[in-house]
Amino acid sequence: MLKATLLNDGSKGRHSAIHIDSGDNRNFLFDCGDTTYWKMKEMGISTYHVDSIFLTHKHGDHMRGFNQVFVGASIPTQVDNPKILSLYAPPGTDELIEHKLEGDYFIRTFIDLFVNEVSLSDKECKTTKYECRDKEFERIECETKPLKDNTIYNDKTKIVKAFDVSHNDPDVPCLAFSFSENKMKVNMRYITKRGVPAGKWISTDLQNALLNGDEILYAPRGDGGLVGLEVRQAASLDTTKISYITDLHPNEQDKEDLSKFAFGSDLIFCEANYTRRTERPSEHHMSAFDAATIILNAFDSNKNYKRIEIDKRFSRSKIKSPAAVLMHLSEKVDENDIYNEADDVLKEEYEMIIGKPGMQLSLI
Ligand SMILES: [Zn+2]
Ligand SMILES: [Zn+2]
Repeated sequence: MLKATLLNDGSKGRHSAIHIDSGDNRNFLFDCGDTTYWKMKEMGISTYHVDSIFLTHKHGDHMRGFNQVFVGASIPTQVDNPKILSLYAPPGTDELIEHKLEGDYFIRTFIDLFVNEVSLSDKECKTTKYECRDKEFERIECETKPLKDNTIYNDKTKIVKAFDVSHNDPDVPCLAFSFSENKMKVNMRYITKRGVPAGKWISTDLQNALLNGDEILYAPRGDGGLVGLEVRQAASLDTTKISYITDLHPNEQDKEDLSKFAFGSDLIFCEANYTRRTERPSEHHMSAFDAATIILNAFDSNKNYKRIEIDKRFSRSKIKSPAAVLMHLSEKVDENDIYNEADDVLKEEYEMIIGKPGMQLSLI
């Protein structure tokens, strides 16, 4: 079960941060504005278990909390076994992180920090390693790796893809993210019919064949022989997808491209900064109308969407899926106006919620 926590909603001067717990000790942070560390503490979410942080861009409301999260990710007693922490962010972030480490390096920290600068236009990821050891750190340049299909993180069952968005400022490259978890559903009836007993090969060979898109797999039959199985008959993938789109000023083409990027998302966290009636709309953000248009066209009518449960403090306990959480609302705009403008576009397809700090959504 995936659990997504909106640590902070990015609205009305607050800061953005989303935590995803995949239930297998892998924890992901998307942005880390000022209060991220304290909100995690308050909610009982371990900072030590965060191993990957994805930053949309360098603005303070999205990354100023990095230092505290970084220190919180380390256990100082584990001197011989440093924690590995990976950061994925747009070009230019490495320099900022180095300055942060130089300027605020006062706690015993034992972390191997990998800063991955994602350049989608060059289709590559430039990695720098910081070996952080007790008030010292060493900077090591690593090899630049090519990126395929916008995939920036892939541990086989979980994939994170990035997408370039325009924050309308050439000095501030900005990324949107999609997080997908692929779980294997096994068709034991087909497998036993072919004379193959269940065994370790299912979680290794079959899973690999399925993820690699192989057609045939030779599996061990009960009598010691091998039998060919059609991989797509033997198992299928059940994908849960969460998208996070914020801080952009999209044109019509951008909206179309983002809908494709977020297509089939069970849950979309999306900026809805102002309404079209706002007196002086921002040139760097997105209206509720824009957000709803992207979300509406991301709907996949063929998908078996996940059920979503939400903390009772924020909504009724179960909500319809797929769901969109609107966030990063301007302080100058009434949230009911944001809701109504988006609702006029979305109507039936998506459940829509205005994000609140601490909101937890479980995808079942
Ligand atoms: Zn920004
Ligand atoms: Zn922002």
